[in-house]
Amino acid sequence: MILPASYLSLPVKFRREVRPEVYPSPRIAIYNDALSMELGVDLRDSSTLSGGIIQASTTPLALGYAGHQFGNYTVLGDGRAVLLGEIESPDGRRWDIQLKGSGRTPFSRRGDGRATLGPMLREYIISEAFAALGIPTTRCLAVLTTGESVFRLTKEPGAILVRVAASHLRIGTFEYATDEEVGALADFTIKRHYATLLTHADKYYQFLEHVVARQATLVAQWMSIGFIHGVMNTDNVALSGETIDFGPCAFMNTYDPATVYSSIDTQGRYAFGNQPSIMHWNLARFAETLLPLLADSTENAVKKAEEALQIFPVAFNAELERSMAEKLGGGISHLEELYRWMHETRADYTNTLADLSTCEPLSSDERFRAWHSKWKDSVSQEIRNHQAIPRNRLVEEAIAAAVNNNDYSQVHQLVSVLRRPFERPPEQYRDAPDIPHYRTFCGT
Ligand code: AMP
Ligand code: MG
Repeated sequence: MILPASYLSLPVKFRREVRPEVYPSPRIAIYNDALSMELGVDLRDSSTLSGGIIQASTTPLALGYAGHQFGNYTVLGDGRAVLLGEIESPDGRRWDIQLKGSGRTPFSRRGDGRATLGPMLREYIISEAFAALGIPTTRCLAVLTTGESVFRLTKEPGAILVRVAASHLRIGTFEYATDEEVGALADFTIKRHYATLLTHADKYYQFLEHVVARQATLVAQWMSIGFIHGVMNTDNVALSGETIDFGPCAFMNTYDPATVYSSIDTQGRYAFGNQPSIMHWNLARFAETLLPLLADSTENAVKKAEEALQIFPVAFNAELERSMAEKLGGGISHLEELYRWMHETRADYTNTLADLSTCEPLSSDERFRAWHSKWKDSVSQEIRNHQAIPRNRLVEEAIAAAVNNNDYSQVHQLVSVLRRPFERPPEQYRDAPDIPHYRTFCGT
C-alpha cells in the first residue's frame, strides 16, 4: 500500500501534481524480491509500478529543486521523475517510491521525460552492490520496459526505474528555497532525517553539522571502494546521506586519483581524487542556504557555517582511516606507500586490497614484496576486504545482453555475485579487464 507523500505539507513551489505517462505496454523486467521483502511490500504489478494506475489516496508529485551543475547554479526539478508516495517498512521507517522515466513534468524543460533501459539497469546493478557493501544508497524496487522506443544516440527501449529512497531532499532543494522558505524546508528535513534534533536549542546548526558529517562519511566510503560518482552536482547530493543518481558512475580499476569516466566531465572536475574536495564545496553551498537560520547577523551566521564545515575533514579522515584499517588489518601506516605503488604500477585497486586477505604477496614485483613484508608485521586486527565490484566490462556486457537480446541472465548473475561482496567470486568477476578508454554517459 502506497501512502500519500509527506511532501504534500511543503509549499506548492516544491511540488507539482503530475500524472505519470500511461505507456502502451509496461512490463516488469526486474523485480527486486530481496528489497521487496525487506520493505514488507508487494508491489509486483506493472500497472502500479508504471504509474498507469494511481491509488485514489495518493497524489503523484514532481519535486522542485535547483543545483550547481559543474559549478553553475541552475533551476532543475524532477524533469522525468514522479514521486508516487511513501511506504512504511516493518521497522516504522518511511521510504519514498519514485518512478524515474515516467514522462514530462512542469520541470522537464526541453527534455522528453523518458529514461532508457541501459542506464536504469546500471542504476539497479550498482545500487545493489552498494547495499550489499553496507554503503548508504537509494535502491531499485523494479525496472520496467515501457513498450516505447526512446531516441538517444540511437533508438533504445524506454524504461522506468522504481526508486526507493529515504527521501529525495537534496542540497539542491535548499538552493531552490528563498530565505523566507528555508525554515519550513529545514524543519521538514530535520523531522524526516534528524528527528532527535527537533528539540535541540540550536537545531539548525546541529542539522548542518549532521549533514556535513554524513556526507563526509559517505564520500570516504566511496573512496575506500574506488567508486567514482561522476556527476556530483549539488542536486545529486541527498540530505539523507544516501548515494543517489547513478548516472555516469563507475568503479576505478587501475589505481589513479585522476580517473574520470564520464563523457561530459571534460575538465575532470569529478575525478576520483577530487571527490572529497567537491563534496566539501557542495556542503558550503548547502551551508549558505541555511545562513538566515544560523544567527541573527550574517557575520555570525557565516562564522557558524564555517565552524560546521570544519567538521568535514575530521569526519572524512576518521571514516577513511576506519575503513582502510579494516582492509589492511589495522596497519595503515604503510597505506600511502601502497597507494604510490599501485599508482606507479597501474595495479588494480580492488584486487590489490582483496589479495591482502590471502596474506601471501601475490605480485612478483620486488617493491610490492618488500612493502608486503613490512605491512604484514603491522597487522593487528582481522583483515576484511570486499572481493567483488561491478566491473565496467561486466556491467556493460550484462546491460547489452538485456537491451539487445532481452537476455537478463547476466544481469541476474552479476547481481547475485555483488550481493555477496566479501566472498571471493569466480575468476571472471575478478579479472575482467577494464574497457580501454571507457566512457560513461548520463543517459538523460
Ligand atoms: P541528472 O543529471 O540525471 O541528475 O539530471 C539533471 C536534471 O535533468 C534533472 O532535473 C532531471 O530531471 C533532468 N532530466 C534528465 N533527463 C531528462 C529527460 N529525459 N527529460 C526531462 N528532464 C530530464
Ligand atoms: Mg539528478
